[in-house]
Amino acid sequence: MVIGVLALQGDFKEHMASLRSHGVEGRDVRTPADLKEVNALILPGGESTTMAKLLISSGLNKEIVQRAKKKMPIWGTCAGAILLATDVVSPVPLECTLGLLDMTVERNSYGRQLNSFLGQVEGLKEPFDASFIRAPRISRLGRGVRVLARCRKDRVMMREKNILATTFHTELGGENKVLEYFLSQMIEKR
Ligand code: GLN
Repeated sequence: MVIGVLALQGDFKEHMASLRSHGVEGRDVRTPADLKEVNALILPGGESTTMAKLLISSGLNKEIVQRAKKKMPIWGTCAGAILLATDVVSPVPLECTLGLLDMTVERNSYGRQLNSFLGQVEGLKEPFDASFIRAPRISRLGRGVRVLARCRKDRVMMREKNILATTFHTELGGENKVLEYFLSQMIEKR
């Protein structure tokens, strides 16, 4: 089992470190050839506008969609979650999203960097604190999408079949509950 981390921009190194601390083999994904070597994929937090451009220029956008259709598990955190959405409300237009999870996201919905916060996430076995950094909010969810966790009543962790999105970061604070969920419920149980 090798888990890829999209390594075009953003905090991919932190995701790689949390995979390592779980004893899971991770691999940076920068090209379609890299993607062929992995069984699952994490899209990190960062800047979704930049990542969207790089997804197109690398040709990875089409390849990721193809693999998702073949049921590869994919988890997007924050900017990664934005890239997974079918619809994005944004002051700056995104060049593309992967359109793999039926939801509308509002980018930077809690305000600017200064309004970033540590919030308590509830829905998995035990509540935990997670970082919301210029995080998006979900304003619409498709019928086939399950809400797995909330913070301050907002929907913050969503799943549609093999696709998982969290509007927060877990890889920054050593909090591993979402990674454990991804590994146990979406990869091992396939
Ligand atoms: N606001 C960023 C964006 O729209 C996401 C921030 C993040 O990933 N922490 O891309």
